[in-house]
Amino acid sequence: MSITKTTEQLQSLDVQRHLHPFTDFNNYAKKPGRIISRAEHIYIYDTDGTEFLDAMSGLWCCSLGYSQPEIAAAVSAQFQQLPYYNNFFQCSNEPAVELADRLVKMTPEQFTHVFFTNSGSEANDTNIRLIRRYWDLKNQPNKRIILARTNAYHGSTIAAASLGGFSSVHDQFETLPYVQHIADPNWYNSGGDMTAHEFGIAAARELEKRIDQLGEENVAAFIAEPIQGAGGVIVPPDSYWPEVSRILKERDILFVSDEVICGFARTGSMFGCETYNTEPDLMTFAKAVTNGFQPLGGVMVSDRVASVITSSGGEFGHGFTYSGHPIACAAALATLDILERDNIVERVAKNVGPYLQKRWAELGDHPIVGHTRGIGMIGSLELVRNKVTKERLEPEQQAGGVCREFCIDNGLVMRAVGDSMIISPQLIMNHEEIDTMIERATKALDQTAQHYSV
Ligand SMILES: *Cc1c(COP(=O)(O)O)cnc(C)c1O
Repeated sequence: MSITKTTEQLQSLDVQRHLHPFTDFNNYAKKPGRIISRAEHIYIYDTDGTEFLDAMSGLWCCSLGYSQPEIAAAVSAQFQQLPYYNNFFQCSNEPAVELADRLVKMTPEQFTHVFFTNSGSEANDTNIRLIRRYWDLKNQPNKRIILARTNAYHGSTIAAASLGGFSSVHDQFETLPYVQHIADPNWYNSGGDMTAHEFGIAAARELEKRIDQLGEENVAAFIAEPIQGAGGVIVPPDSYWPEVSRILKERDILFVSDEVICGFARTGSMFGCETYNTEPDLMTFAKAVTNGFQPLGGVMVSDRVASVITSSGGEFGHGFTYSGHPIACAAALATLDILERDNIVERVAKNVGPYLQKRWAELGDHPIVGHTRGIGMIGSLELVRNKVTKERLEPEQQAGGVCREFCIDNGLVMRAVGDSMIISPQLIMNHEEIDTMIERATKALDQTAQHYSV
């Protein structure tokens, strides 16, 4: 697209005409955004030509960076062949069939089917529909309650935002009455005097307690991200998932692993459930499945659920105009080709993942960093005034925003979540690029410390 307007004109129109997601409109009017006009590899460029190293891979989705001509070529070819057809009314299309087969083959063995959506939010809505249908067909209509966690992010439709665990979001609409939350396993914030191991077990047992209070005959499912992303990259203690798995296995409750962030190699396995050895009945995916180049999401459905739903007779009354869109599916197939061709899982597990984690952990020596955590190519750190007492920088929950501005000044995009800074860099980064990212992050941390006179 050739630019016909100045940056100032674009910014002004943007404020006047465009309601942005998750944005404080007053603040945005005072401080207009950067208009991103171009991207290459791991860098984005605004309309003034300023370069930023994008340590968030867009919104967790462009895991293979911005320069992947094979995906563009696949999309372009599909445009020529079949730009659209729907999958309702006894029809299908080649890319959708190919992708379904490929996803079933590359996901853990319990998964036999996929339901396509256009986003992670729609996929989690779909999960709710599948869960309800499953228990109805199993003649257990009382199993209605879905358990989720605080600080979870599962999307932004009414249903997905109800599953999510942000009270500031819940305050703005009526949440679904059959969703309940337990606490997230954030050891640094909530662990008190417990070791990480003890805290992981205790956090898992909250799930057990809640299920037993409600009665297992009333609980339909538990949904969780292997690592909570938007909530602040909350990496659970190693003891957490085995204990949760034990609790769920002993009770007849469906487990949904929301892998919209962890899926497709982010944690050093193809899926987060493989990293943590859990056995989900349903698995949400989106984002990196197309490297963010096309909107596509979906649910992997296990034999346990699929066999009940498909043998029931009567229609499953759910679907989207763009479910299994041929162009989005073509983009996904090309993305998966690259993931496999370039051995991205192994690269993250054995090479760049460990290197990033080593460099990221070094930031823990910084005077205002109280804690670092991460695995594979995802990480977060906690900003504090006092590393020993964990006293926060005042006012609380705002230091991340301050640090983020210093990151931007240094040509780095990191995301702020309250008092933590999070990264989800491209899986294709090399060591030198990781060093550049850490260097810029360190400068931003120095400036943040100076800003707060630490
Ligand atoms: C982003 C995200 C979603 C929602 O996906 P959308 O495509 O934005 O609807 C759901 N779950 C997790 C874990 C996410 O990070």
